[in-house]
Amino acid sequence: MAAKVLANGVVLTFDESTQSIAVLPKASVLIIQDRIAAISENLDPAQIPSGAEIIDVEGRIVSPGFINTHVHSWQSIYRTLGPNIVLANYFDWLSQVSTKVNDSFTAEDVYISSLQAYREGLNSGVTTYVEHAHNNWGPEFVNPGYRGAADSGARVWWCYDVYPRSNFSSDEQWSILKDIATNSVPLVPMGLSLDGVSGAFFTGDEFERAKQSIDDLKLEVFTLHHMGGPWPTGGKTSPTAVCTEKMHETGLPIIFSHAPYLTPEDMSKLREHDMFISITPESECQFGHGQETGHLISDQASLGIDTNWTFSGDLTTQARLWLQMTRRNNYKATLDRGLLPNGNPATVEQAFLMATRQGGRALRRSDIGVIKVGAKADIVVFNGESPNMLGWSDPIAAIILHSNSGDIEHVIVDGQFRKRNFRLVDGPLNEADVKIRFLEASRRIQGRLSVPPPLPEKLWGCAELGDVATISTTVT
Ligand SMILES: [Zn+2]
Repeated sequence: MAAKVLANGVVLTFDESTQSIAVLPKASVLIIQDRIAAISENLDPAQIPSGAEIIDVEGRIVSPGFINTHVHSWQSIYRTLGPNIVLANYFDWLSQVSTKVNDSFTAEDVYISSLQAYREGLNSGVTTYVEHAHNNWGPEFVNPGYRGAADSGARVWWCYDVYPRSNFSSDEQWSILKDIATNSVPLVPMGLSLDGVSGAFFTGDEFERAKQSIDDLKLEVFTLHHMGGPWPTGGKTSPTAVCTEKMHETGLPIIFSHAPYLTPEDMSKLREHDMFISITPESECQFGHGQETGHLISDQASLGIDTNWTFSGDLTTQARLWLQMTRRNNYKATLDRGLLPNGNPATVEQAFLMATRQGGRALRRSDIGVIKVGAKADIVVFNGESPNMLGWSDPIAAIILHSNSGDIEHVIVDGQFRKRNFRLVDGPLNEADVKIRFLEASRRIQGRLSVPPPLPEKLWGCAELGDVATISTTVT
């Protein structure tokens, strides 16, 4: 692979000493193989290997790639199916435990739906994922999810959720994982989702087996959903409970998705053992998870999407939502005391770091989510000349408050172009084939699942549902 120079861009480097972004107004980034080899305002020609490709990015914004720490990519095929539902609608209708879902998907549907989700992310500058892969309802559905990740060209920590079923035993699932791990590709290392093994949401209790599988499956991260508060998960998914099971002693990073109701003890466990939460602002707003404590633990928080089918697949939208929700939340405390805000609670730089560097920290990787010498060459170039970005002077504010996917000119993962000159680079399947196969599967599956079942009387047979005030845009 030829070396590359991104020449004369506005480069958003990470300053380790201040733990903040340092903007270089005109600098060049030298990429050799998969790493950033040099960043310089006067790159010495002697440093540039012969045959290097020079890409002129003068005036463009050179940003680290974005990191999505929570997603279920196999579901992207549902796009726009349930835009006004709450979480209690979801499980019996569209989740991995729905019988109708299990009967509707073919193995190849899982592949194409997953692949398309990562392509959407790459198009919008998401270079890294933590995948919560709960495509676990039969032996033929597991590997296609992994293949979708491997064929996408994204960097994906692929965390399968072992979920014991009568037709698909956990022994069989562990065995398939062993096969996948044996043949895994470097850009898609394995992790494990703990919902099923913890027995918190459904059944099973295999924490010990998860620990024993670390070497065998080459596991690099654990992740799990955690709700708390009024949500019925038996307390088994909290940071406190996971530490009681001594999962933190494995030394692997642990990411708790959503985590809207953390206790003070949970927060101290996160800090003490350097564990992270993944806030998914748009999902939590729509589905009604709540997000009562995220603003108190921003130092151990990253951002996720949850699913592409009903939420924006780009991290800038999630960062923008997180920023404005956090601001509104903290202003409210002042306003409720009858006083006016005298300062802003959160900055655009903090939102930018939530979508980049904090994801790297969640994975305990100091070499992703940042632009610095030695870091992985996961880089996004914003053009910045569209009507929505034109006139920017603060590049971080331009990205967080004004950019969209159409502004992204280039995306590089592991030193290789995945989007170039505003177009995705084809992988094993070309763009037209992905489109045809995705649309066929999407129309077929949405046709089968178009009618939602009635709301359950109680969520998972135990949690009471309550009335929600609605609004009206109709003049009466
Ligand atoms: Zn989720």
